[in-house]
Amino acid sequence: MALTGAGISVESGIPAFRGAQGMWEKYDPMEYATIGAFLKDPERVWAMLSEMVDVFSRAVPNPAHTCLADMEKMGVLRSVITQNVDGLHQAAGSRKVIEFHGNVEELVCLACFRRYPSRERIREGIPPKCECGKILKPNLVLFGEQIPWATQEEAEAEAKSCAALLVIGTSANVTPACDIPLISRRKGAVIIEINPEETFLTRTITDLHIKESASPAVSRLLEEIRDIPPPS
Ligand code: NAD
Ligand code: ZN
Repeated sequence: MALTGAGISVESGIPAFRGAQGMWEKYDPMEYATIGAFLKDPERVWAMLSEMVDVFSRAVPNPAHTCLADMEKMGVLRSVITQNVDGLHQAAGSRKVIEFHGNVEELVCLACFRRYPSRERIREGIPPKCECGKILKPNLVLFGEQIPWATQEEAEAEAKSCAALLVIGTSANVTPACDIPLISRRKGAVIIEINPEETFLTRTITDLHIKESASPAVSRLLEEIRDIPPPS
């Protein structure tokens, strides 16, 4: 199984939060990407969201995404749990993707709970509005919001039953996503971390740290396992 974070999409041109570049210098996530900020001033938060949606629309999967999709097709990777909301795993061809923090494909109304495809509403203007007049929120999990119960259950079941976990491009700072490696480890899984930097997992539960960017590391891993027959 793989757990991915913002780092896997850096080589697709989407900046991660930590070691911030680009848009996150302008918009501090702790100030903008919180449910409190959205409830207080949704128009202000949409300045950040619209820039994010724009960056996503220009991004394409990189070799780390496509190699994970290939591993799934080979039968050696069961699923990807991603903290990302950019849709690049699906764009690369991964089928079993658990979007732990949701996505920006859909908009929801916090007043009347109507849902809309983002494209349709955003075309009509930013901030996008519900038929009831309220400003819509993308169906992603902002800081301060709960992970949907079904998503949490599904992710936990995956985490508990994998033999090995690839932890790719996450600083493992955001709860409860950062508990996933701990859950897997407790059940005896081997933890393989791919990250050019160390994280708090590296010296605690990681068995193997591949201290490299996601694309070259995942590409090489795929080459190494290509000729090994899949588990029966
Ligand atoms: P993070 O920003 O906290 O950490 C990114 C990690 O990726 C760091 O540990 C960094 O060393 C590593 N990294 C940087 N470049 C890398 C590369 N080329 N290859 C491999 N690793 C690399 O990200 P997080 O842990 O995912 O937590 C931040 C939260 O914000 C998450 O929910 C995340 O998904 C979300 N976010 C999402 C996107 C996106 O959807 N692409 C972008 C920014 C933030
Ligand atoms: Zn509404």
